[in-house]
Order: sequence, then structure tokens, then C-alpha cells
Amino acid sequence: MNDIQCIMSTYGRNPVAFTRGEGTRLWDEEGREYLDFLAGIGVNNLGHCPPKVTAAIREQAGRLIHTSNLYRIPLQEKLARRLTDTCFADQAFFCNSGAEANEAAIKLTRKFMRDHGHPSRFEIITAVHGFHGRTMATLSATAQEKVQRGFEPLVPGFRYVAFNDPSAVEKAISPYTAGILVEPIQGESGVRLPDDGYLESLRAIADQHGLLLILDEVQTGMGRTGKFWCHQWSSVTPDIMTVAKGLASGVPMGACLATSRVAASFSPGTHASTFGGNPLACAAALATLEVLLDDGVLAGVPDLGQYLRDKLDGLKGHQAMIHATRGRGLMAAVELKGGTEEVAAMCLNRGLLLSCQMGTTLRMLPPLTITRDEIDQGVAILDSVLSDLF
Ligand SMILES: *Cc1c(COP(=O)(O)O)cnc(C)c1O
Repeated sequence: MNDIQCIMSTYGRNPVAFTRGEGTRLWDEEGREYLDFLAGIGVNNLGHCPPKVTAAIREQAGRLIHTSNLYRIPLQEKLARRLTDTCFADQAFFCNSGAEANEAAIKLTRKFMRDHGHPSRFEIITAVHGFHGRTMATLSATAQEKVQRGFEPLVPGFRYVAFNDPSAVEKAISPYTAGILVEPIQGESGVRLPDDGYLESLRAIADQHGLLLILDEVQTGMGRTGKFWCHQWSSVTPDIMTVAKGLASGVPMGACLATSRVAASFSPGTHASTFGGNPLACAAALATLEVLLDDGVLAGVPDLGQYLRDKLDGLKGHQAMIHATRGRGLMAAVELKGGTEEVAAMCLNRGLLLSCQMGTTLRMLPPLTITRDEIDQGVAILDSVLSDLF
């Protein structure tokens, strides 16, 4: 076996390896330069190796990496304060990934219902084509056959309804229902935006039936859509929210945030994570928040997002293979009439990273620090690829 065969083949990998990154740019083993319009799948929101985050990680690594949650972690307390100051939440639980954040949210929802006299309410309504992770509970929450196939029996307690259809949620409610879990914009299924008012309707339904509203902001959070949290484009606040991808600029970290009323159902011993919220990850996340909020990165996202989408719309004007473009902030998609895999592969060959979702959609999640110049360059590469292929 060669080295690559020593890795379980869970990924269809492109035959390229990056050795260095700076801002929106990456360099591979041969020294070729790439424009990264995917940012580690929405992780490197401040670009590659943002100096302040890199410095914070270096400094913390030399001081204290890990201690465990048996002891107080002041950096974790500071991070919880900083995160809850950005939104509805009062308290945070820290873990290491999006799936774990959703696991925490699912457990918290069940426990909350138990604690409030509804032991039979354990079911969570989720949306078709949503994505919530790959652990047994989160893949069971993920209403996509390709994620679930082969891993049955699924964890009980999830009901699937059409996305963007509040009446479908209402119809799915039973005496067993505990909560509603959705992404404010579906990321993995190709940047699918619901209609205005969708979250408001879900909030009203949840309130009317005594359910918890859980928002999965793992991909849409941390400034991706131009607000710190995507749900802040609406007038709604959830009871629980999950975050991960961009939280610590690539140091693995997730969090489950909740109101104190709901969070009170987690008491000592009910949930835990060995690594969750260790000093290294917290230092990275605190530096990330600082750059995002205090250095004005977030403030620039709406204009940059509009600029990118205008460019993509311009492309649609003369590229007949483009069926539609959509997005919010710097979360964008180009839906093609065909050949999407080939387009993504040829873009990579020409030095542009983006992803192909659901076989039909090119997804872009560039660093929030991207420049207009870099947007021009990336869109020009896509333009040339579309011209040469079709
Ligand atoms: C990526 C993602 C997850 C899973 O996160 P992992 O860190 O891979 O476990 C969950 N929900 C959404 C919306 C995501 O985009």
C-alpha cells in the first residue's frame, strides 16, 4: 500500500496538495498558485493564516494547549461571553465540530422536554436536503438518502418535511414533537435560500405548540452571509443555535448556544467533551472574533457579496449554461444546466477552488477578506472555463 491507501477512502479527493496559504491564495507542492473560493468549506473565513489568529495560536501553543473541563478555563469563559454578546443566547457549550454541536442541540432539546413534563416529546422536525453532520444522530437528522444509506437503523426521533414550507411543519407536528431544526440557508444542498418570512413562520409555529426552534448556523454563521448570524436578517431568534466551521479559523471547534431557560437542562454530568473549548481552540476563536468584529471584516461582507453576485449575474448574461445564481453575503451558488463536475475540475486546473454540490451547483464560500480584484480574477477563470467547455 502506498501512503494514500493508508487512509480510509471516505473522500473523493482532487489530486492536488496545498503546502502554503495566505489570504485568498493557496500554493501547491509544485508552487502553483490558486484562488480559494471555498475557504476550507467555509472555515477559513479570514483567509489563510490570518496574522492575528496565527499569532494567537502560536502564543497560546507555547503557553498552554489543553487542560480539560475538570477545571475552569478563563479563555472559554471569555469566548462564551463574546459569542453570547453577538446574539440571543445566554450560554454556550463548546465541542469540536458541527456534528457535535448539533448532537448537543438534539440532546438539549430532548432533555429540556423531559425536564418540563413532556417525556414523550423527543421528535425533531428537520428539512429535506438539510445537512447536520455525519454522526449517527446527526445523519438521522439529515434528510438525504445518500448520507443515510447503509447506516440503518437510524436514530429514532426525526421527521422530515419540505424545506421552505411552514405548513408542512405544521402538518408534521404530533404529541411527540419537541423541536424544529433547520439551516437558515441550506449550504450543502447548494445554497438554497428560503422565502422571506420562513423563519418567522417557524418561530410562530414553535411558540404555538411549545416547541424549541433550533437553527443550524454551522455554515451560515460567523459573518458568512453579511450579518454575524444569518438569522439576524430576520426578526426571529431561536432557542438553540449551533456553530462550527468559521468559529476558530480552522482549529477544530464547535459550539451549541442557547437561552438560559433552555440551557438550564444541561447540568453537570449530562453532557461533555474532552477537547471541547480547550485553551488553544478558544484563543483561536477569540482572535477570529476580534478580527471579524473589531477590525471591520464583517462590515465589508454585504458589499463584497453584492459585488460577487453582480459579477455572477453578469456571467449568466452571456453564459447560456448558467441556469441560476443565488446567495447571500459571501455564500454564493451558480446552478448549471449540466457538466458541473467538469467545470469544477477545470476551474481547479486553472487555479480556482470551488465545490460542486448535488451534481448541479457550483458553491462559493470565499474568505470574507477577499478583495474585489480577487473576485474579478476568480469569476474570469470561471468565465473562461464555461467558454471552453460549452
Ligand atoms: C458542515 C456542516 C455540519 C457538520 O459539521 P462537521 O464539522 O463536519 O461535523 C453541520 N451542519 C451544517 C449546516 C454544515 O454545513
